[in-house]
Amino acid sequence: MDAPAFEGCRFGLEKVSMNDYPGRPAAVLFIPGCNLRCPYCHNGPLVTPPFPENLVSFAEAAAYLRKRNKVLGGVCLSGGEPTLFPEIKALIEAVQDLGYPVKLDTNGLLPERLKPLRPDFIAMDVKTSPHKYRLLGTADGGRIRQSIEQIKASGIPHQFRTTVVPGITDEADLDAIAELTAGSPWVLHNFRNNRCLDPAFEHIPPLSDALFRKLCGRYTPDDRSLILR
Ligand code: SF4
Repeated sequence: MDAPAFEGCRFGLEKVSMNDYPGRPAAVLFIPGCNLRCPYCHNGPLVTPPFPENLVSFAEAAAYLRKRNKVLGGVCLSGGEPTLFPEIKALIEAVQDLGYPVKLDTNGLLPERLKPLRPDFIAMDVKTSPHKYRLLGTADGGRIRQSIEQIKASGIPHQFRTTVVPGITDEADLDAIAELTAGSPWVLHNFRNNRCLDPAFEHIPPLSDALFRKLCGRYTPDDRSLILR
């Protein structure tokens, strides 16, 4: 049964992605609206209104998911920031009721909304040191510590992710994030300077592949998987 609470809500739908659910081909439902303004964000159209017109209803997404259940191995709920959606708990359960494991992407800024959720996988972006979140449009960066601890203690499979962005994520920030997320899988991405929310970031060169790998190569403890992309 489709969730009536979602009538009138609209979502972005990527029908198949090989990169958004570890080890599974997955559909991605994008939930518009975000409480951060990361200047390098590639999802600008979903951060602030007006949102794109080609969004779909949950009923349309559910119809697609029912048809593709032999091909897809999961559904990723992404954004924007999915925990801002008032019905996020019911949305996760509605997708699970369709027979799909759900991966939730979050920036971790709302630990109290994250806590009651029971997705099958959580990926939290840890963008920089907590005190530097002002560069991303908030003074509440300290709240990410709480989300990190909650996720670690939740028993839910998870990973933390960091995009290495010149001027936002330097070596000291990576050291701080490594300490905060110790013991859990950590995925490091190199910044891409295309389609950025702040066009000024399109003129900032990313680290060379060699420098990125050298910088990240410092983090190789045995108790975690570290993936470079
Ligand atoms: S990168 Fe994520 S958290 Fe940052 S503005 Fe974009 S959607 Fe929001």
